[in-house]
Formats: sequence, C-alpha cells, structure tokens
Amino acid sequence: MITKNNYKDILEEIKQFFKDDHFLFYCYYSVIDTTIIDESLSASAAISFIKKEDGSIQKTLVINPDFQKNLSFYDWRFIITHEMLHLLLEHPKRYFVNKAIYQTVLNFGDIFNIAADISVNHLSTDMFDINRNEMTNWKDYCWVETIFHTIPGLESIKSGETTEYYLDLLMKNSNTIEIPSIQNHDGWSSSGQEGAEEGDASTRSDNLSEFDINQMFDDITEKFVSEVARELRKPIPYVRQLLQEIRQDSDMGDGNGNGGIFGYGTSSFRSTLKRATERLLGLDKVPKMREAWTELFKTVKKRAGFDEELEESWSRTDRRFISIMNQSDILLPTEYEIESKGKMKLAIFVNTGKYCSRYIDSFKKLIASIPKDTISYKLYAFSSKVHEANDINDLHFTGGGAYISCVEKFLKNNGTHYPDAVLVVTDPTFYDTVSPQYPERWFFCLTNGGYGGYGRGRANTIFNGATKCLIDDIMKNRCVMTKT
Ligand SMILES: [Zn+2]
Repeated sequence: MITKNNYKDILEEIKQFFKDDHFLFYCYYSVIDTTIIDESLSASAAISFIKKEDGSIQKTLVINPDFQKNLSFYDWRFIITHEMLHLLLEHPKRYFVNKAIYQTVLNFGDIFNIAADISVNHLSTDMFDINRNEMTNWKDYCWVETIFHTIPGLESIKSGETTEYYLDLLMKNSNTIEIPSIQNHDGWSSSGQEGAEEGDASTRSDNLSEFDINQMFDDITEKFVSEVARELRKPIPYVRQLLQEIRQDSDMGDGNGNGGIFGYGTSSFRSTLKRATERLLGLDKVPKMREAWTELFKTVKKRAGFDEELEESWSRTDRRFISIMNQSDILLPTEYEIESKGKMKLAIFVNTGKYCSRYIDSFKKLIASIPKDTISYKLYAFSSKVHEANDINDLHFTGGGAYISCVEKFLKNNGTHYPDAVLVVTDPTFYDTVSPQYPERWFFCLTNGGYGGYGRGRANTIFNGATKCLIDDIMKNRCVMTKT
C-alpha cells in the first residue's frame, strides 16, 4: 500500500498517530533528517547514518515498499515505530557497550540485533496498543514467542525486559537457539555483513565509530530537546533541565548513561513517557480526579450499554440458542446490543465561546485529567461551529457566542455513527436550544454558572433527559450526577 507516490502522506499519517498517543515519541520523530525510498534495501525500512563532509551525521529513514508487498497501514505503523524505538533506546550506542563485554563472540552483531528487536517489537505493540493478530505476518519478526518459547526450559520468558536481558539469555543458550542471520543492522556489527533479510526493519550505517555514534546521540538529544521546546512553546533550557530531572528521578539509567533518554525500554517505558509528558506540560500538578472520572464513566458506559458486568452475565444470549438464532431473521434485542458493541465511542465537546474564555485553564485541566488508559475519546471545540481538536492545545477560544445546536447538527451530519456518549464541557447557557435525537446519551460537565449573568439572549438552555455534574466537583475528585 505504500508507494513512491504516497509514502510521504502515509508517514505523515503515522506521525499523527504518534502525536495523539505519545507526544514525546512524536517529537523524537523530528530527529530524522530525511526520508527516501530505496528498492535495493533488504528490509522494509531502516535508518541509515551517513557522515557528511562537515562531520555531522545525516539520519535517513529508508523505506522499501517492494521488500514485502501488500503490507497494511497497520504493519507500516508498527515498522516505523520499531525503527524509531531503536533510535530512542539508543541501540546503536548500546551495541558498542555490549560488544566490549562479548568481544570474543563471533556473530555478536546478529545476536545483539535479535535481542534489540525482541525488546523493540514488544515495546512497539505495547506503546501503541498494536494487536499483533491484525498485522499481516507478525511471526516474521522477533518476539519472545518466536525466539525463546520454542526452546524447552525457556517457555516462560517474559516480554517487556531490556535488550541486555535478552542478549544475556541468547548468549547463555547459544547452543540451543538457532540465531537466524536475518538482520542488516550492519553498522553495528564489526563484519559489516549484510544478511538476507526476512521482512525485518532495521538500522544500518556506514561503519561509524563508537565515538561518531556517541556524538550523534548527543546531537540527537539536543535536537529533540529543542523540538519539544518548540512544540510546547517553552524555553530550551527549561525543557533540557526537566528532561534531566525526569531521567534522574525515574532511576532509569545504570549510572553510565547507557539507556536512552527515557531508559532501557522495559515494560515501564510507556508509563515513563507518559509521566514525562505530563511533567513537561505541567499537568502533574493537576489535582487527582481519577475516582471522580471512574465514577462518571461507569455511569456513562452503563447508559451507553457498555457495562462489562452486564455483558458477561444475563444479557448474553444462551449458547444453546445461538444455532437457532443464526438461522432466523429474528434478533433478540439483547443480542443485537452485544453484536453492536465494541469500544464505546465517546465524543467530548468543549465550549470555546466567549463566555467560557475565563474557564480555559480549568477546561484544559479537566480534559487532561481524564484517565486515557481506560477512556478514549474524540475531542472537539464548539461555539457557533464544531472544530476537531487533536489535543487540549488545539482548544482555542473564538470570541463568539456558543450554540448547542451546532453540536447536534455535527453529530448527525459528520458521516459517522452518532457516538455512544457525548460529554459537553461548558457553562450552562447557550444562545439557542436543541432537542437531540438521543438526549440520554448526553452528559454535561458544567461550571457553576451564573457568573456575570446569562448575557443578552442567553438562557439556561440545557434540554431535559441528559445527565449533568459540576466541574468543581470533579476537580475535587467527587462525582455527583443529576438528571437535567
Ligand atoms: Zn530492528
């Protein structure tokens, strides 16, 4: 699906995924200088490091769409994540550190590559909730299942460990584990050989020295720091200082600075990145509201028919009836509900009209405190029109008045299904009223209201049948819901 013509668009789309899910990972993507297509590359993708005349090292993401044809967007997202993680975990640098330990091992390069790939692959799926079964051929890559679990005695080796941990295991079991020569992280191996590839994504370089590589990662870190600063509109020294503190606090390094900026890449990597993001955004000082949200979303899910307990018990169609049901046109209402269930589609609309401009900080803090590990949603801003927002930084106040009818109009006309639940963050007054198709799916997080009066033409115009709670309560980690 990636071609010479569309690869830039597709990479851009993948980058957008990074931005939504892991802001810092997205910023790290900017350390890549350029992207090219190379049909002679013996992998689907690789990052090449080439020393330029001025001594700096050019980092190129090389893509070969012909290496494995018919890879899906999902596969490519995995492959690009894989490449970026090799960089973020500073594997080329760690190669040299470990090579000094295993000097006498002949195929050290191959073994290191497998250890690094096992670590990176599990991390890729974990960080971006990639379901391996949705990949075209997940077994083509290195995992604990494909490398270790087939060996007697190693069936219980876990994912989420460091490259060094897997390297040690591979070394200890080098008699029983067949080391496939399928990698071409050739810059890391002293022989510089290029093995025949089997669909792996990898990293290559033109025989750079350990000094070159260390220098390159210092430069990369600087570029990353300035990119984060640029994205957050914060001063570079502030970001640099904070990243250093994050590194020291979270006990990620071994004291020799051998892990990447965010550590070695164990199963805690995802939460480390998330905590670092919150700290950089100043969101770690947000009051704890987890219990309140849990309470609120329990009700939201129940009302939207996503009550897990319910689904597991009485509402499930008895297995004995399934064969009858399948031959019949009749669908029991409960079964229909189960069939239509998947992930709850939640849309959050934030009033960015002029009367809400004074609430901007509390609205952002409120949205930022929604536990993203359990609740996913699409975010929108509205006043007289609805605008899609990628994150809270996209919530800009328009200066105009707010019309609640534009939300309902948007929900009905945007081409997708009406969401299972609609959460509106707003003050209680609008210029108009609306009678939505599904009022029971609407939830309001309201300011105390009344401040400065309703203004000309405004009234307390929230329709009946919805559920409301107060932002002030949620901020105090309380959730009191009432019907409108
Ligand atoms: Zn790799």
